Amino acid sequence: MGKPTGFIEFERELPADRSPLSRIKDWKEIHLHLPEENLKTQGSRCMDCGVPFCHTGRLISGMASGCPVNNLIPEWNDLVYRGLWREALERLHKTNNFPEFTGRVCPAPCEGSCVLGINNPPVTIKNIEVSIIDKAWEEGWVTPQPPAKRTGKKVAIIGSGPAGLSAAAQLNRAGHTVTVFERADRPGGLLMYGIPNMKLDKQEVVQRRLTLLEDEGVKFVCNTTVGGNYPAENLSKEFDATILCTGATKPRDLPIPGRELKGIHFAMDFLTANTKAVLDGSKGENYISAEAKDVVIIGGGDTGTDCVGTSLRHGCKSLLQLEIMAKPPLERAGNNPWPEWPKTYKMDYGQEEAAAKFGDDPRVYLTTATHFEGDADGNVKSVHVVDVEWKKDEKGNFGPQKVPGTEKVLPAQLVLLAMGFLGPEQPLLEALGLERDARSNVKAEHEKYTTSLPGVFAAGDCRRGQSLVVWAFNEGRGAARECDRYLMGATDLP
Ligand SMILES: Cc1cc2nc3c(=O)[nH]c(=O)nc-3n(C[C@H](O)[C@H](O)[C@H](O)COP(=O)(O)OP(=O)(O)OC[C@H]3O[C@@H](n4cnc5c(N)ncnc54)[C@H](O)[C@@H]3O)c2cc1C
Ligand code: SF4
Repeated sequence: MGKPTGFIEFERELPADRSPLSRIKDWKEIHLHLPEENLKTQGSRCMDCGVPFCHTGRLISGMASGCPVNNLIPEWNDLVYRGLWREALERLHKTNNFPEFTGRVCPAPCEGSCVLGINNPPVTIKNIEVSIIDKAWEEGWVTPQPPAKRTGKKVAIIGSGPAGLSAAAQLNRAGHTVTVFERADRPGGLLMYGIPNMKLDKQEVVQRRLTLLEDEGVKFVCNTTVGGNYPAENLSKEFDATILCTGATKPRDLPIPGRELKGIHFAMDFLTANTKAVLDGSKGENYISAEAKDVVIIGGGDTGTDCVGTSLRHGCKSLLQLEIMAKPPLERAGNNPWPEWPKTYKMDYGQEEAAAKFGDDPRVYLTTATHFEGDADGNVKSVHVVDVEWKKDEKGNFGPQKVPGTEKVLPAQLVLLAMGFLGPEQPLLEALGLERDARSNVKAEHEKYTTSLPGVFAAGDCRRGQSLVVWAFNEGRGAARECDRYLMGATDLP
């Protein structure tokens, strides 16, 4: 702990974001950087707690509290305060293969559980993390580290999202020959096609790391669907072990009257086609435009927010985001104490941009859609909505009840469904004959990752359901460790 009084002397400071009205004109990242001196000051606010709640990831009330990859946060806060950036990088890479991703997109459960946060704004852990790794890339400290020798064992990883990438990095480090299969045309999973470019730059940040992994010896095989154009039964013939990292990509639908109308899409179809257009420099046949349209996004979560930011960049005419839950409180509620994840009202980047453009937060709370209405050509033209109240029905079941007399009609030529995901797609799991749990995820225990088939492991969203990038890293690293143990009888992987 470099400065014992830092947390008393200094206020929390984050770098400014680019101004909302200027950044919606491009796809560049929205965050700016803090000068090094200010970062040192922020590092000095860390109290080097005897029990650093920031550092140990746990699920409390179903939400992450503390860092799921157990980042050595107090150590690198102190090293940044002392100006020992390279040492800080070494500590950071011990627990996290790709801090430039979490440092940009993680909701930072570490900050939610930071001890300073009990009665002060928490340490700016996420910003310090990204600053360490960005500086390291700039200084040329991040270089390929291929293994000194190969074991001769071959591992297939299915899916190249954060779970697949972290498993690949770890197994390659252990000397195994790793092939990552990906059905999309580019690797990265939701880091590439999902999270939009303004949150995580694809060329400068994602591709840079993918290239480094290739230079270390990881092989990516794209445009290849395992269980499709690559037969599932080939896996056991060609590889000594397999890790499934196929994500939870089955979207939740909204089967209400009018769902079949043109102009109603799943959020991921909209976001994927958009990022592909940004990267290819041309709009493909699946491109969905929000330009000059009234857009209604159904779902108030992060995917919905990414649809807000993307629609604004297309130049939509108006925009609303419907949320069935109540507006969260401004401060932690009594039943949501520290160190739980704070369920408080926040304006994310998309809502800030919408407010700058249209004057208000686009989220409409306690509202649900009842049906869609179309024009004579079968195009959606409006969404009918009604207010809801959360209470018990006549059978005693708690849920959203429609409030009579509150019906409204919202104009909409584009409707985006962003209501979460229902687990992994099933065909490959069926082809392999794998056991599933009650939620249709691959059945495998956390920390063990072994499925019902010997030599087949599962990690990330396909095992735990739709979650966070940092949990996918936790699982990818853990599955690599267990896979290494299976292949070699013992393992040195953390
Ligand atoms: C729009 C959106 C925004 C998000 N934003 C954030 C955020 O800001 N911060 C955060 O922490 N989390 C965010 N998340 C959640 C996070 O992205 C996921 O939890 C994480 O990516 C899961 O990683 P994964 O590796 O398990 O799966 P994924 O990233 O989903 O990757 C799975 C990959 O497997 C491939 N695949 C599937 N089946 C096959 C097959 N049979 N053969 C070959 N390849 C296959 C898929 O094409 C995909 O590329 C977001 C999610 C979405 C949808
Ligand atoms: S909980 Fe907060 S103050 Fe304590 S060690 Fe972690 S970052 Fe520092």
